[in-house]
Amino acid sequence: MFELFENELNSLGLLLDQAKNAGLDFLENIGEKPTYIADQSVVAAYLADAGIGAADTLEVFRKHYEKLMVASPGPRYWGFVTGGATPAAIAGDWLTAVYDQNTQSTQGAGDVSAIVEKETIRLLCQLLHLPDDFNGGFVTGATMSNFTGLAVARQWAGERSGRDVSREGMAGDLVVMAATPHSSVIKSLAMMGIGSNKVVRIQTLEGREAMDLADFERKLIEHQNEPVIVNCSAGTVNTVDFDDIQAIVALKQKYHFWLHIDAAFGGFAACLPSQRHLLEGWEQADSITIDCHKWMNVPYDSAVSLVRKEHSRLQLSTFQNSNAPYLGDPLENFSYLNFLPENSRRFRALPAWFSLTAYGRNGFEWIVQNSIARAEELGSHIEASEFFELAAPVRLNVVCFRLKSGIERMAAFLDQLNRRGKVFMTPTLLSGESAIRAAFVNYRTEKEDVLIAIREMEEVMHAL
Ligand SMILES: *Cc1c(COP(=O)(O)O)cnc(C)c1O
Repeated sequence: MFELFENELNSLGLLLDQAKNAGLDFLENIGEKPTYIADQSVVAAYLADAGIGAADTLEVFRKHYEKLMVASPGPRYWGFVTGGATPAAIAGDWLTAVYDQNTQSTQGAGDVSAIVEKETIRLLCQLLHLPDDFNGGFVTGATMSNFTGLAVARQWAGERSGRDVSREGMAGDLVVMAATPHSSVIKSLAMMGIGSNKVVRIQTLEGREAMDLADFERKLIEHQNEPVIVNCSAGTVNTVDFDDIQAIVALKQKYHFWLHIDAAFGGFAACLPSQRHLLEGWEQADSITIDCHKWMNVPYDSAVSLVRKEHSRLQLSTFQNSNAPYLGDPLENFSYLNFLPENSRRFRALPAWFSLTAYGRNGFEWIVQNSIARAEELGSHIEASEFFELAAPVRLNVVCFRLKSGIERMAAFLDQLNRRGKVFMTPTLLSGESAIRAAFVNYRTEKEDVLIAIREMEEVMHAL
């Protein structure tokens, strides 16, 4: 064996301890680590003929790059929808690399990882009060989950017009309706050749991001003779608004469209008895997107795609890896390789399995409740503030706000706030106007963190 490999295998324990200690250094001080690093200059990398070995490499990494790592798993990283990583999820994630399974087949592969993946989906569906009616699998993020659900929808729509899209390609336009789709839905339509400009925009309710059902029904009638794909938002990123799923499901009885629900983070509202009504009826969807690296606090990259089992054949036509005859009958011998975009896949379910098993229903209920409480605290402060005003009522875990003194100073305010490195937020557009968002998703965030953020926000305003 190449000498370096041999030496390192002989001292693997030492190396893993060093990596563990580096990880602990980072996580034990995560509250003090900056959420923003202005100077990101790095020296251009150069590949040597002779490597320096893993231990020295860890040192080099720590010296040059570790100080540039932001505290995104920390308690005050409120940009985008950034989840943390629970201890169990971290352990599961580390071991995913160690076991290094290529997770595909649930039968006859001599490898149990795909079966554990299915069990993980079972646990997740139980957490979210979803029935066992879906083929579920892990993908890299909600973007790929939206892509997966919408790709099967495209196959369904093609079939209704007598066309096998996966074999013959698209012919003409497909009708996709949505009110406030996430950007990744638009991106998915671009990736799959439906076209990002082709979305039929359903009007929203006054002052809301949720769809106006009267307008929705008008559009369904207009397109009554075509197969229609509907993207429903269960938690928009700006105001955590939900389309009225129950009403949409009732319309589905009449108009027979494909219902895709993007519940990337909003799906976790189902963990709380008081919020579960927001998702009522979602078990009737054709496909559902759930992100695990957001409110579930599993490290990147982790999301789940759920597609109704009755669409198995369509899902298979969409993703079958058809040049591999050795796979046997793909409906009988379930293999993720024929049901999801990727072929080789890591054992991505393991961190989620660890987390679900370690914390149970109560743990996730607590995380969701805790995030909502923090958002309400920041929201109340903003309502009472001389400097800030809410851009929308606080729903669940996102606070969307503006400066009272005008939109012109908002970019400067946010830039200065973020550069101080104590709290991180992101800009957005709400009804075409600039706003700032703070999304609470991390189990680490405590009352004190909200107070720190408020202090920071006020200091920046005084200096602006
Ligand atoms: C975050 C998000 C996505 C995209 O998810 P990624 O995990 O970033 O790919 C899609 N939809 C919604 C509603 C989201 O919040």
